[in-house]
Amino acid sequence: METKQFQAESKRLLEMMINSIYTHKEIFLRELISNASDAIDKIYYKTLSDDTLIFDKDQYYIKIVADKENRTLKILDTGIGMTKEELETNLGTIAKSGSLAFKTENELKDGHDIIGQFGVGFYSAFMIADVVTVVSKALNSHEAYKWESKGVDGYTITPCEKDSVGTEIILTIKENTEDENYDEYLDEYRLKAIIKKYSDFIRYPIKMDVTDS
Ligand code: ADP
Ligand code: MG
Repeated sequence: METKQFQAESKRLLEMMINSIYTHKEIFLRELISNASDAIDKIYYKTLSDDTLIFDKDQYYIKIVADKENRTLKILDTGIGMTKEELETNLGTIAKSGSLAFKTENELKDGHDIIGQFGVGFYSAFMIADVVTVVSKALNSHEAYKWESKGVDGYTITPCEKDSVGTEIILTIKENTEDENYDEYLDEYRLKAIIKKYSDFIRYPIKMDVTDS
């Protein structure tokens, strides 16, 4: 299986995220929920311009699943999904992330407020996860693909199984260290509080499922 390298700019951002001293690591969830919401918006806009499609509101949601035993946090959406090529271009390069163009390296290092204002996107997941896995099936596609990365060493894309259209981001949460508590990102009440704080305005339902050991 071939390991692909991140584009240089992406690698630099990834390094910053992994070594982040930023105190508001919790914003990773806001970023992933906002991407999930964007993905559902994309289906919604398609239905507006295509008479053969209808937007059934009940079918579209975001779901957060925490599994304490396996230390995984999953952010699932029923949005537009990504093809193999989209996984490659959208997650392998940061060129597409417009907001990032506003930020300098120092602003990111300082954890300057600009992070709070503009968002740092998908790679913020690496602040709290050792491994990030993205399983996605694009609208009108019969194939699903898995993108996986442990950080700066690159990523792999492999075919996989997924029944429904949409995306699942599976985060393998870091182990606690002396200075940092990561267990909190598997805790139902903490997760609910983070969602309330940053994602209260999201217009699709955010469901939650937490399993203890
Ligand atoms: P931005 O949201 O500013 O474009 P991100 O780094 O947050 O930047 O995301 C990069 C890109 O990856 C998005 O623009 C989108 O194309 C794709 N993406 C990320 N998450 C999802 C998702 N859940 N569903 C579909 N596409 C996604
Ligand atoms: Mg985003």
